[in-house]
Amino acid sequence: MKTVLFRKEDIYRGNLILINRDNPIRVEEEIKRNLVPVANSHHLLNREASDKIHQILIKVDLNNEIRPVSCFRSKEEQENLYNQSIRDNGMDFTRKYVARPDTSEHQSGLAIDLGENKPDIDFICPSFPYHGVFNKFRRLAKLNGFIERYKEDKEQITGISKEPWHFRYVGYPHSLIIEEAGLALEEYHDFVRGFDSEENSFLYRDTEYTWSIFYVGLLDDIMYLDIKADYYSISGNNRDGFIITCRK
Ligand SMILES: [Zn+2]
Repeated sequence: MKTVLFRKEDIYRGNLILINRDNPIRVEEEIKRNLVPVANSHHLLNREASDKIHQILIKVDLNNEIRPVSCFRSKEEQENLYNQSIRDNGMDFTRKYVARPDTSEHQSGLAIDLGENKPDIDFICPSFPYHGVFNKFRRLAKLNGFIERYKEDKEQITGISKEPWHFRYVGYPHSLIIEEAGLALEEYHDFVRGFDSEENSFLYRDTEYTWSIFYVGLLDDIMYLDIKADYYSISGNNRDGFIITCRK
C-alpha cells in the first residue's frame, strides 16, 4: 500500500485532462517543456504520445500514406488559426472545426491531426478516410492510447463537428474502453465519476490484466489517499479531481 499526495495544481495535468469550451487548458509552460518531434517531422507532441504515434506508424504506414498535419499549437498559434479561419471560412465553419484559444486540445500536446499524404492537404480538415491503411491506423491507435476524439452525433457534447483526422492521446486502457463503448471523452469522464474509490472502481479486463479505474474529487488544496495496487497512474481531469488507473 502506498500513501499518495494529491495537490490542486495537478488537477490540470495528465493524459486524461478534459479540454473543451468549458474546461480550458491551464499549464501551457509545463506542456511546452515536454514536447518532442513526431516521426522525424517538425511537428511536436507530448513525449509519450509521440512515441506511441511513432510505434503505430512504423507498423501500419509502410508506404508513407499518412502524415502529421497539425500537432502541438501554442496559444498564439491557436489564436492566429482561429482568427484566420473566421476571415477565410466565416464564423459558422470556424465554430464547427476550430476551437477557441485555450480550449483546443492541440495546446495540450496530446492531440494530432493526421492526413492522407497527397498534394494540397487541407490544414483544418485534412482527409483521413475510413478504409485501408487509415482504418489499420485506427485499430492500432485505440490499443495504444489514442481515441478518435470528435465523432458523429457527439457534436452537442463536444462542441466540435465530426473530425475523422483528429486523434487524442488519453492512454491505455482508457482509449480501448472509450472506443469500444462509443463514448465522447466528456461522457467517459462522467461515467468514471460514478466509481469513487479503489473498492468501488470500474473493472476492465483485457487479455493480460485487470484494470481498476476510479475518480477522486479534491475538496481541499491537498489530500492524501492510500492506494493498494502496486502499479497505478494518476491523471487530473482538468475540472475538480483525478482519475486513478490501477493494473492488477
Ligand atoms: Zn485537431
